[in-house]
Amino acid sequence: MPKYIFITGGVVSSLGKGISGASLGKLLQLNGLNVNMIKCDPYINVDAGTMNPFQHGEVFVTDDGAETDLDLGYYERFLGINACGANNVTTGSVYKAVIERERRGEFLGATVQVIPHITNEIKSRFRALEKNHDVTIVEIGGTVGDIESLPFLEAARQMRQDLGPGNVIYVHVTLVPYIESADELKTKPTQHSVNKLREIGIDPNFIICRSSKALEAGIKDKIALFCSVPREAVIEAKDLDSIYDVPEALHNQGISEQALMLLGIRAKRHDFEKWYAFTRRTKALQKNVTIAIAGKYIKLKDSYKSLTEALVHAGFANDAKVRLNYIDVEDPDCEKTLRESDGILVPGGFGSRGIEGKIRAITLARELKKPFLGICLGMQCAVIEAARNLAGLAGANSTEVAPKTKYPVIDILREQKKVRDKGGTMRLGAYTATLAPGTLAAKAYGKTEISERHRHRYEFNSKYVKLLDKAGLRVTGIYKPKKLPEIVELRGHPWFVGVQSHPEFKSRPEQAHPLFKAFVEACLKARSSAA
Ligand code: GLN
Repeated sequence: MPKYIFITGGVVSSLGKGISGASLGKLLQLNGLNVNMIKCDPYINVDAGTMNPFQHGEVFVTDDGAETDLDLGYYERFLGINACGANNVTTGSVYKAVIERERRGEFLGATVQVIPHITNEIKSRFRALEKNHDVTIVEIGGTVGDIESLPFLEAARQMRQDLGPGNVIYVHVTLVPYIESADELKTKPTQHSVNKLREIGIDPNFIICRSSKALEAGIKDKIALFCSVPREAVIEAKDLDSIYDVPEALHNQGISEQALMLLGIRAKRHDFEKWYAFTRRTKALQKNVTIAIAGKYIKLKDSYKSLTEALVHAGFANDAKVRLNYIDVEDPDCEKTLRESDGILVPGGFGSRGIEGKIRAITLARELKKPFLGICLGMQCAVIEAARNLAGLAGANSTEVAPKTKYPVIDILREQKKVRDKGGTMRLGAYTATLAPGTLAAKAYGKTEISERHRHRYEFNSKYVKLLDKAGLRVTGIYKPKKLPEIVELRGHPWFVGVQSHPEFKSRPEQAHPLFKAFVEACLKARSSAA
């Protein structure tokens, strides 16, 4: 029988349900089980592709080219799995599928309703992925009590009916706020939110309590009593320094043993030691390095989630604590911070705002010989910078920013132009690249055939490759089938690499991405030679 764990959230959003779910998944995996994870998003958008990173955080891209919720990034990083588009189920995609079937007449004249048609579609999405997995963890976005998430919660409730109580359990993540004036942690919001969940017909098996402080014994007793769960099923989840400490904190309270018992599964192995050795190592990093992220979405840190995690992982691999300076390139005073950082990273982005500031940051990295990593738009800006300042093409630009530029060094492909107005013109998902031997990229990867995920519309215009090569910016990686430039490097600079892809999506805590690892290593070198 397939086994399911549903994760719901109560009281407020942003409780880190994704991290709690991924941590539970990690624990089950360390017990030798094959775990899959699904995220349900109650919004009407069909996918996260059109959503503003300022509001919703980063769009996480999977190998199969789906634009998904950033929680899938946590699943991939914690579990080391490669998710696909089907791991993210949105209200928009569910309704779209049901309405399309209705138009095709597949419901044979029936009145199409939320129950059973929408809930059946939701359940079939879950069940389509369960094969070959011992446990599927489904996280339901939003907060219990919202109108939007009701069909997902109803589907979760029905799953227990369908599969039997021994095969489906529920974990509710809530907030236990600390009230300063009373010097007390308060359980009332948790009680209310569990009641709300019960009204929908879901009895939680576990309550994970997010709080800024440790829960004293009395608090756990109270929650257990009022929410009628066993005391050991009330799990404390207080804020920790590192998200990678969460699995251990949950494990110490016996969550995985209890979950396995409730689901009637036996652990196949115990692989905890290796993971604990890793987390212990991350707490004793010897070196320090400061990296500037020169972007424009800096107010919401979640906009660069995978990127910052990739840098943290690269720090782990280099025995270094990475301090990140988020720099708003539109701030006229940002140059000082850029100068003080050991390396400069220009991340991806869309639209024309901030481009000139990013280009200025790259000029600085080039002139000061500071290690530079340009990601997607960051690579495109490096090409524009070199075109203007090394090849003498004044006014060179991307046609995304300046459609009428005389020197379109970054341009949309001809075949893409034709379909631009119909949408869907992005290069999305995994593409291969072939690297020139002996280059920084080839050295970092340790091979010359690679695959990375993409999410962009514009490309380095091949017409300018030769000219820029002569000026000092060399193409060191290409997508062979279409001869598209994928990676650029600057001659005569210690470490200057721009990539058209988003390598950050594939970094893992215990296996830092090679390019980020090499970048941080170069930053450490720059720091020690400056000292
Ligand atoms: N806006 C650029 C493009 O569409 C870069 C995209 C990105 O950085 N992800 O090509």
